[in-house]
Amino acid sequence: PAARVRGLGTSVFTEMTELARSTGAVNLGQGVPELDAPAALLRDVAETVLAGGNQYPPAHGFPALREAVAAHQLRRYGLSYDPRDEVLVTTGATEALAAALLGLCDPGDEAIAFDPCYDAYPAGARFAGARLVPVPLAEDGDGFVLDADALRAAVTRRTRVLLLNTPHNPTGKVFTDGELAAVAEVCREHDLTVVTDEVYEHLVYDGAGHRTIAALPGMRERTLTVSSAGKTFNVTGWKVGWVCGPAHLVAAVAAAKQFLTYASGTPYQEALARALGGVEEWAAELRAALRRNRDLLSEGLARAGLRPLRADAGYFVQADIRAWGHADGVRFCRELPLHAGVVAIPTSAFQMRPDAPSYLVRFSFCRREKSVVEAVEKLVAAM
Ligand code: PMP
Ligand code: GLN
Repeated sequence: PAARVRGLGTSVFTEMTELARSTGAVNLGQGVPELDAPAALLRDVAETVLAGGNQYPPAHGFPALREAVAAHQLRRYGLSYDPRDEVLVTTGATEALAAALLGLCDPGDEAIAFDPCYDAYPAGARFAGARLVPVPLAEDGDGFVLDADALRAAVTRRTRVLLLNTPHNPTGKVFTDGELAAVAEVCREHDLTVVTDEVYEHLVYDGAGHRTIAALPGMRERTLTVSSAGKTFNVTGWKVGWVCGPAHLVAAVAAAKQFLTYASGTPYQEALARALGGVEEWAAELRAALRRNRDLLSEGLARAGLRPLRADAGYFVQADIRAWGHADGVRFCRELPLHAGVVAIPTSAFQMRPDAPSYLVRFSFCRREKSVVEAVEKLVAAM
């Protein structure tokens, strides 16, 4: 294999999903929803397919979806984007992130990401020939906090892009207003482009809700905001995402995107354009269900002696495995399906630094309440 893919191996999601299948364990590994999508959205897609909406969409996405995304950003964040050249529809957030790195970074450039981070970031940087520079999120005993000095120290003359993810996978952290302001200050000072991954933007359970860095002074002009329908509507298999930003940055993403997939998802795009207008009501319901799952899981992990960290948003709670006499999350997660009948993902799968702590594992709660309760019972019985 080529150097750019050497060592990438099989993703931990594939390995753990297979373990869940072969052992019959309750799967709280991969963040894949067991919850239903809006019924009207599903009917809409079916009707679109049967009515013949099955051919290539426009390369940048259907105008109706681009308009719906622009309206969504204006309504929620007060940010105005021109749907003609400031919004691009992509094949999931994953393609938007990869195309952004390919479109913005030259070989030898550097991209900064907070560590831990979603595993597509280091892979995307590598494909672009860029070096991903990790800046650790510091554990404060409860959750994770930004170390602004560490961020500042990581910037060099080669830094092009800062990858931000809020709400954050795997930690469930929501960057605070103060943290976003500190990140923005560094980016303005060093003229960095921000790629902010906001796929969990509708899934914030506590605190002030989601904030986007693009809305801070001097940031709209240097920020690409990435999101996706997958988590918002429980349709992760549809792989419809989008990116908003100033035209010159979106054009760079589109230049790469057109030769990765050209376009995709005609019937989904058409239906999602209609669904996005009513997202607030739907998302409130989804949040209520997920918040309850989050509480059941956190409380259950604590009962099982696996200290849960604070998770204000998203799909995941991380737990400290040391009280069970374990220090290595990878080994723990390989044994857990057999020992306790539960699948989780080692947080180390999201860590770039070799010296990062290895005692955290990630449990997902985007499952049926019954699955979360069953997993908790199994963990308590196995402690
Ligand atoms: N970013 C983060 C932080 C994620 O958790 C995910 C979902 N696994 C993605 C991006 C990918 O989103 P999509 O499925 O839309 O490609
Ligand atoms: N985003 C999901 C997770 O973190 C799934 C990602 C994937 O399977 N590639 O679990």
